[in-house]
Amino acid sequence: MSSTAKAFGAKASDADLELMQIERRAVTEKDVQIDILYCGVCHSDIHTVRNDWGGSQYPVIPGHEIIGKVTDVGSGVSKFKVGDLVGVGCLVDSCQTCSSCKDDLEQFCENGATFTYNSPNKYFEGLQTYGGYSTGIVVDESFVLKVPDTIDPKGAAPLLCAGITTWSPLRHWNVKKGDKVGIVGLGGLGHMGVKFANALGAHVVMITTSPSKAADAKDLGAHEVLISKDPEQMQQHMGSFDFILNTIPVGHEMDPYIALLKRDATMVLVGAVEPLKPFHGGGLIMGRKRIAGSLIGGLKETQEMLDFCGEHNIVSDIEVINMQDINKAYERVISADVKYRFVIDMASLK
Ligand code: NAP
Ligand code: ZN
Repeated sequence: MSSTAKAFGAKASDADLELMQIERRAVTEKDVQIDILYCGVCHSDIHTVRNDWGGSQYPVIPGHEIIGKVTDVGSGVSKFKVGDLVGVGCLVDSCQTCSSCKDDLEQFCENGATFTYNSPNKYFEGLQTYGGYSTGIVVDESFVLKVPDTIDPKGAAPLLCAGITTWSPLRHWNVKKGDKVGIVGLGGLGHMGVKFANALGAHVVMITTSPSKAADAKDLGAHEVLISKDPEQMQQHMGSFDFILNTIPVGHEMDPYIALLKRDATMVLVGAVEPLKPFHGGGLIMGRKRIAGSLIGGLKETQEMLDFCGEHNIVSDIEVINMQDINKAYERVISADVKYRFVIDMASLK
């Protein structure tokens, strides 16, 4: 039998989020039913609510940094039992048969991955998937992650998106001890990028527009802070980076960041899912530099990242909020005023 859950969602791109009642599917053979304890607030939630990327279907019920306790499992579930602490990130389904899925890259499923929110819902025709701003969710066990019980569950919530989105490119581009790594933008993603790059042994430079965040950046693990609005400082670091991870959430001038790269170095974009400002081809040609992109990470890699966080005691720096404060929190994220991820305490909705 399907169940009902309380949720917060938006009925239109210009509407505030408000209380709603939603239906969750009955637990099938391979499903895990989760009582949601915490859910992180990602900038992607805001982009989707406000239809910045187009394609939002309303109501939008965001949330893809979910931590909860298992309350029921289907008869065929082998990985989880009632009471387990689990996580759900940006993905809840994929075909599991295409070459991307077989390569453990479900985020690139060639038949269309099902994202945790705003994807067509296979179980309720005509409806979209609804995310973690909710009291409960039902997810196929293949898309549920084990959360190490050594880490704080509230701080672990953002690992499910901000964590894997920064971990995956750092690992894919083989960031290692001694590399000079720049992390651009000190928000939810950026602060995890700093922590991971530091844990991997890199020399980490926080590249920020906000001088007021310099001290925090160092506390998070940056060895240096570079204020991107200061041309003199940018000049000093020209041609010196082995790798740059760019989390800026909007289209922006690329040339100043390209100039920071060494010969053969790569800048990976994860933030700007929209047109970029034109940039000069010469900036890439002179130095054989590369610009690339990266999208979250697959389930296997997400589990590896969570296990790494368990071993190294890494969690996000968070501000816990009540569900009812979400609209104010969105305004603060937009104005780059979050230290460094909001996490909703779902007890406030129950
Ligand atoms: P966030 O918490 O808002 O952080 C973004 C940071 O970027 C801000 O704190 C600010 O840092 C900097 N920034 C903001 N506007 C800027 C501008 N106009 N120019 C230069 N810097 C600017 O956002 P987030 O949750 O980390 O997400 C970042 C982006 O990644 C969003 O667009 C989100 O949708 C996207 N995302 C992508 C993936 C993926 O798989 N690729 C996954 C999750 C999220 P400073 O104050 O330090 O400058
Ligand atoms: Zn996200």
